[in-house]
Order: sequence, then C-alpha cells, then structure tokens
Amino acid sequence: MEAGSASAHAEEITMFPPREGDLTKEEATARATAYLRQGHTVHFKYTCAACGSRQTAAEPNVLHESYECSECRSTTTPTRFGFLLVMMTASPHARKGA
Ligand SMILES: [Zn+2]
Repeated sequence: MEAGSASAHAEEITMFPPREGDLTKEEATARATAYLRQGHTVHFKYTCAACGSRQTAAEPNVLHESYECSECRSTTTPTRFGFLLVMMTASPHARKGA
C-alpha cells in the first residue's frame, strides 16, 4: 500500500461528460455575448471532469480556460458549458440606447 503520493495515476481519473444541452466554448461565448449586449449577466456553468459535480463560475461574464472545482479542488478544463442567465429587471438608471 502506498500513502497517496501525487504521481502517475492519470489513468484512474474518471471523466464525467458534460451535461446534455451544454454548448461548445464557441457557442457558449456567442450566446453569452448576445445576452451581455442586452444588459444581462451570465455565469458560466460546467461539469467537473474529476468529480462530476456541476459548477457555476463565481466570476460573471468571463469564460476562463480552466477552473478550480469547489467540491474536489481539482483543476478542470471544461470543453462544454452551460450558463446561468441573470436577467436584469428594471433598474433606477435607464440605459442609453446609444
Ligand atoms: Zn470536482
């Protein structure tokens, strides 16, 4: 028995597939950009490849290359994304249409 040394066991990593309906990075970026233009806020979502938990990116409106999973702390580089759309309701400051 080995005491968990962090080395060469990459083959044992289970890959969890993205959720059905998730978009490719290009599609997710394109859709998010459209929502951002309408004044909404977007949090990207992805599935951690190491533990399979569904994660929501803490930082809004930005798609990063890789994320640290809040459940298992492993770094995952998602290839498929969903997103959480935060609709802006009537704000006290009207937007200028320019
Ligand atoms: Zn994880």
